Amino acid sequence: MQPDRYDVIILGGAFSGASTAILLRRDHPQLRVLIVEKSEAFDAKVGEATTEMSAMFLTRRLAMWHHLEAEQLPKEGLRYWFTNNKVTGHANATEGGGFIRSAVPAFQLRRDALDEYLLKTAVDEGAELLRPAKARDVELNDFDNKLTIEVGDEVRELHCRWLLDATGRVNFLGRRLNLIERNDEHPVAAIWCRWNGVRHIDDIAARSGDLAARNVSSRRLATNHYAGFGYWIWVIPLGNGETSIGVVFDKRLIDLHHSKDRAADFIAFLNAIPALAELLDGASPRLDDLRFYSHLPYVSKQYMGNGWALLGDAAAFLDPYYSPGLDHASFTAEATAEIVGMDAKGEDIATRIVEHNEAFARSYVRFFRSIYKDKYYYMGEADLLTAAMILDTAHYYIFVVIPAYRFAKKFLWMPVLGPKPAFFSYHFIKFYHRRFKAIALARRAAGEAGARNDGRRIKAYFNLNFSPMHMFLRGLKLWMLAEADNVRLQLRRLFGRRPATTPAAEGVEARG
Ligand SMILES: Cc1cc2nc3c(=O)[nH]c(=O)nc-3n(C[C@H](O)[C@H](O)[C@H](O)COP(=O)(O)OP(=O)(O)OC[C@H]3O[C@@H](n4cnc5c(N)ncnc54)[C@H](O)[C@@H]3O)c2cc1C
Repeated sequence: MQPDRYDVIILGGAFSGASTAILLRRDHPQLRVLIVEKSEAFDAKVGEATTEMSAMFLTRRLAMWHHLEAEQLPKEGLRYWFTNNKVTGHANATEGGGFIRSAVPAFQLRRDALDEYLLKTAVDEGAELLRPAKARDVELNDFDNKLTIEVGDEVRELHCRWLLDATGRVNFLGRRLNLIERNDEHPVAAIWCRWNGVRHIDDIAARSGDLAARNVSSRRLATNHYAGFGYWIWVIPLGNGETSIGVVFDKRLIDLHHSKDRAADFIAFLNAIPALAELLDGASPRLDDLRFYSHLPYVSKQYMGNGWALLGDAAAFLDPYYSPGLDHASFTAEATAEIVGMDAKGEDIATRIVEHNEAFARSYVRFFRSIYKDKYYYMGEADLLTAAMILDTAHYYIFVVIPAYRFAKKFLWMPVLGPKPAFFSYHFIKFYHRRFKAIALARRAAGEAGARNDGRRIKAYFNLNFSPMHMFLRGLKLWMLAEADNVRLQLRRLFGRRPATTPAAEGVEARG
């Protein structure tokens, strides 16, 4: 064994890098795997909410139940709160989200704790680690790569058959290969930090009686979204008592990115939303932790070649809405480890590399065009955003979560909307998504933006039985009612008359 030659070198030892190392070492213990990690210790970062699939990857594939139960919080689905000038707090804000506990595990993560644990596990499984050490340069040749790294003051040269890039948004390899393309069709940015002393929403509800009666599961453990025209805010509880709060906004619609005093404007933005202000009363932001990303989405033209691959954020990022980041990271880790394993066994991997590149490229394009493109135009409409959430979630359950849990009974690497036959879902989702944008803009033009944002409750259920079908039908019903109401708006526009009252959207349960 030559000291500086490895079967696999992984750059970056956080979620994507450490998980891939664990899979490689467990499934192919003969492989010599080295992780090169820049940081001395991980600090808090975003990527705190799992989905059902990234949770399945952590529990079933990586066997992390013990860590997740001891150090992290369970997650209770997605929850939405909307606002208009009648809303004074949670009690009269329109609310969408789970009614009872989610039947499928998911987690709210302190990423520094998780990533440290994953990296330690990779080392315990036999991966070698250089830390702190930084990749500086690389020369790729078919399955024979040369890497230059810095370890303290020392510069070292290493060789490997596979070089896997898990350096996140640094995109170490993708940038050198000129593969990374910025997605300017989706101009979204984010600002966030952790907070201390955020009030407990379930205790607020318990004191108000009526609010508590509208829900069974813990609301706090959900990813709570406070949404409006052009933006959404996440509120995620963390196991150390802190709360992660951030805003993601479309720069065409909200101009927080031009802020001269980012902290003050961020805090003022959050406090301008009455329900959120209720939670933040008495809370304090950790301003040392305040972060701003001025442009989120990008994608690599290629995910894998002969002897190299991109993992997780090193390959692509789209939008944190629906928390797809760790799903994508899990899919790339699983798929890449499988191909590297096939190569180690001497199997022909040429067609698998082609399939890998095509599936991930297709997934990104379809995911973006159907779910995210221009979504922020209808984020301020409670019925439309909730209809989209339950329709999208129903698709995710029916075509991804249920097949994995009930049929394959294991984590599957195929990215969302990646399979060719997902063509039908892609076009259907894209169609209703376009309609929601058009309806939202018609409402704005008619002066009725946000009219349905108070006094309603839209329930969602997350399980592996009939709930996804139920959610699908409920989403369709909300959509049809919105279309019918849109006809009223169009008639009013044509005939220039204002009806005496705005018909209430049915199918949305009134409170009480
Ligand atoms: C605002 C926002 C909110 C998000 N919220 C969620 C969410 O709720 N749920 C979710 O699933 N995802 C979320 N994401 C996405 C999530 O953060 C990422 O998908 C995830 O962290 C990717 O993990 P990773 O291991 O690929 O990269 P990272 O976590 O970025 O790790 C990269 C590692 O590489 C190391 N590194 C960098 N350069 C070098 C180098 N030259 N040499 C050696 N090491 C190097 C770094 O030190 C780091 O440890 C969010 C993203 C954003 C921007």
